[in-house]
Amino acid sequence: FSTGGDFDVAVIGGGPGGYVAAIKAAQLGLKTICIEKRGALGGTCLNVGCIPSKALLNSSQMYFDATSHFKNYGINVGNVTLDIKTMMSQKESAVDGLTKGIEGLFKKNKVEYAKGYGRFVDATTIEVEGLDGKKTNIKAKNTIIATGSEPVELPFMPFNDFTDRTCVSSTGALLLDKVPKTLAVIGGGVIGLELGSVWARLGANVTVIEFMDKLCPTMDKELITAFQRSLKKNLNFKFKMSTKVTAADIRKDGVTITMEPAAGGTPEKFEADVALVSVGRRPRTEDLGLDKVGVTLDNKKRIEVDDHFKTKVGNIYAIGDCIRGPMLAHKAEEEGVHVAEAISGKHGTINYDAIPSVIYTHPEVASVGKTEEELQEAKIEYSKGVFPFLANSRARAVASAEGMVKILADKKTDRILGVHIMSNAAGEQIHEAGLAIEYGASCEDIARTCHAHPTLSEAIKEAAMACYDKPIHS
Ligand code: FAD
Repeated sequence: FSTGGDFDVAVIGGGPGGYVAAIKAAQLGLKTICIEKRGALGGTCLNVGCIPSKALLNSSQMYFDATSHFKNYGINVGNVTLDIKTMMSQKESAVDGLTKGIEGLFKKNKVEYAKGYGRFVDATTIEVEGLDGKKTNIKAKNTIIATGSEPVELPFMPFNDFTDRTCVSSTGALLLDKVPKTLAVIGGGVIGLELGSVWARLGANVTVIEFMDKLCPTMDKELITAFQRSLKKNLNFKFKMSTKVTAADIRKDGVTITMEPAAGGTPEKFEADVALVSVGRRPRTEDLGLDKVGVTLDNKKRIEVDDHFKTKVGNIYAIGDCIRGPMLAHKAEEEGVHVAEAISGKHGTINYDAIPSVIYTHPEVASVGKTEEELQEAKIEYSKGVFPFLANSRARAVASAEGMVKILADKKTDRILGVHIMSNAAGEQIHEAGLAIEYGASCEDIARTCHAHPTLSEAIKEAAMACYDKPIHS
C-alpha cells in the first residue's frame, strides 16, 4: 500500500473485529481499506491468542493422553517423548495458513490492505505510517476503530517474552522452548487456566495465584467449583486463592515471587522457573489521535460507543476488545458485521445474552446467558435442572464422564435464561443452548426435541427435563 486515496470505510486494526467489519463493508458495496500494524492479519486471536493456544491445547492433550491414559484403553505406546520444536512448528503453520487465508479473503472481497500504523489527523483523514516508516494520508467517510487489547503488566513484573522468558505474558507462554519444572500462573482467568493446562500436561507443576476467592469470576460458581476440582485432580494444579503478589525478583533462570493474603497478612516467597502473568487485558486506545477528533474514553480507557457502536463523533465507530463487553473474538466479529451493516443503512441487533464463552481445557467449560448468581442478584425467580455426565451413556462409554449440564429457566414461563456445561465437548455443545436463548425457547422445547443416542447432547435434553419436570436417566 502506498497510494493513499478516498474510502467509504477505513478500519483501523485487522483482528477478528476489524477484518470481519472490512469484509462485510466491502460485501455491502462500500469502498473499504483495513490498516494493520502487525504485518499479519487476524489480530491477537489468530497470531497470539485463540488459535495458537488451541493448537497447543490440542497437542499437549494428545501427549497427556499418550503418557497417562492410553494404557487404560489397552494401548501401549512404549516410551513417549516430547519434541517441543515440532509441536511449536505445527502451531506456527496453523497460524500462518489462517492469516494468509484472510489476505485471500481481502483480495476476493476487494478490501484494500494497508500494512502500517493508523492514527487520526482529523475526523475524515487518517495517517498511515507504513512498516517502512513512510507516512501516507487517506480520506475516509467512516472509520471503524478495532485496535483490540494487550496484556496488562504488573508494574514490578515486566514481561521478558522475547528474551529470557521467565516472566511472560500469554504471548511468551505460547513460545516457551522447554517445559518449566514449576510454572506460577498469576491470575486465574480463562487465559491463565488454558495456558497453565498446556504446560501442566507437558509436565510442569502449576500453581495458580489468584487475588479473588473464585476463578473466572464472571462464570457460574457451581461449574467453576467443579472445574477447579477437576484441575486439581487431573493436572495436579495447586491454588493460592485470595492471595496477592506484591513483589518479584526476575532472573535469567527463574522468578522469586512474594505474595500475601489479599486481606493482608504474612508474606511468603514462591520459586518458579517461569511466571505467567495473566491478570487481564487492557484496551489499546493510546496514540490514535482520539482526543484530536473528540472520541471519548470511559474510566477503563475503553472507547465510548452507543448501541450501534457510534462514538461521540458521528462518522467514527469502535468495536471489539477496545470497547465495553467481554473480550472475545466472536463478540468482536458480531460487532464487526453489525457496524458495517449500520454504516450502510441496515439495522441489526446483538443479543449479548446469547454470546457464549468457553474455557478450552479438558473437560471444557462453556456458558451462555445468565449465571445462577446473576439471577439471584437480579431477584429473578428461576428453576434449575442439573444433569451429570456420569449418567450419560456416551460419556460413560468413552470413559469421560466428568462434568454436568446446568440449565436455569424462568420459574413462571420456563424460558431458558442460562446454560452452563462442563464436558469434553462443552464448547461445541453450548450452541444448542445459544440458539435456544436466541429463539426464546423453553426447557420443554429442548426436552421434547429428539436428541440422537448415544450423544453427550442427550445430557442437555435431560437437564431441560430436570428443569421443568423430571429427567429419565437420573
Ligand atoms: P485484536 O484481535 O486485538 O486485533 C486488533 C488489531 O489491531 C491487532 O492486530 C493490532 O496489531 C491492530 N492495531 C492496534 N492499533 C493499531 C493501529 N493504530 N494501527 C493499525 N493497527 C493497529 N477469544 C475467544 O473468543 N476465544 C478464545 O479461545 C480466545 N483465546 C485467547 C487466548 C489468548 C492467549 C488471548 C491473549 C486471547 C484470547 N481470546 C480468545 C481473546 C481474543 O483474542 C480477542 O477477544 C480478540 O482478538 C479481539 O479482537 P479485536 O479485533 O477486537 O482485537
